[in-house]
Amino acid sequence: MNLLANPVPWPNGATCAAAFTFDLDAESVLQVERPDDAHEKLFSLSMMRYGPQVAIPRLVRIFREYDMRSTFFVPGWVAERYPDAVKMLADSGHEIGHHGYLHESPNRLSPEDEQYWFDRALDSLRRISGQQIVGYRAPSFDMSLATPGLLNRNGFTYDSSLMGDDVPYVMRDTSGSLLELPTSIILDDWPQFAHVWDLATTNQISTPRRAKELFLSEFDAVAQEGGLWVGVWHPWISGRPARARAMIEMIEHMQKTAKVWFAPLAEIAAHIRTLIEGGTWSPRVDDLPYHAGRLPEWEKTSWQRGKAAE
Ligand SMILES: [Zn+2]
Repeated sequence: MNLLANPVPWPNGATCAAAFTFDLDAESVLQVERPDDAHEKLFSLSMMRYGPQVAIPRLVRIFREYDMRSTFFVPGWVAERYPDAVKMLADSGHEIGHHGYLHESPNRLSPEDEQYWFDRALDSLRRISGQQIVGYRAPSFDMSLATPGLLNRNGFTYDSSLMGDDVPYVMRDTSGSLLELPTSIILDDWPQFAHVWDLATTNQISTPRRAKELFLSEFDAVAQEGGLWVGVWHPWISGRPARARAMIEMIEHMQKTAKVWFAPLAEIAAHIRTLIEGGTWSPRVDDLPYHAGRLPEWEKTSWQRGKAAE
């Protein structure tokens, strides 16, 4: 039986679409979380600088070998520090997407500050990549209620930060409608592999084989019925040799077992827009905000966040 209620007709008879998207964070996460002492943390800095310096050339070679293009979400500061990595990606046909300026969470900023850093990152990404930037992924997925308006006002065609469906859907608020290309925390490499004491992140490190099994289980479940698979990976994590080998095995498995369309998210968004405009497929619409504020039913309680039950 089919699981998807609203399967997508993908181009050229493809039975599913897949994108190995990467967030090229480099050491921005450490800098934003520990602004006063990040510069002294050589161990963690070196682990994350591995992304633009060692992993990106390797990933570019792998994608070239398999004739695939994908999307790399880049904080503006990372593009300024590692312009050669961003140019190498752009020259190889990959899409550069917006990922904040210094990996700042929109929900930890005022709307004015969010707009300032959004604009600053957008300027850098356009200048360094030479691309028109049309896609966004919020740092740490932490989109704010102000973010869709920023994206709509700047001509973005999609967001890929949320997890509310298996197939593309539309988010609608007072600023307009925005296409969401959803992913899942299951397809993020961070919970599988990230182990950074300086960020108080100490996940048990998975083997590449176990992580591959998890990632592919999501693919196999919808690969024959019009599904969408969007991996959220990080070059410094998944670009290391054994994990890169596992990625190659995944690509080969996907090609062997399904008629898969590998494409940058901007091209997937353009296809969806064509379907909607042509009336051949309609997405589900999610209205924002989900809730107006604190729930009225819960207004008068003394409950405090983080307070243990007594
Ligand atoms: Zn990130």
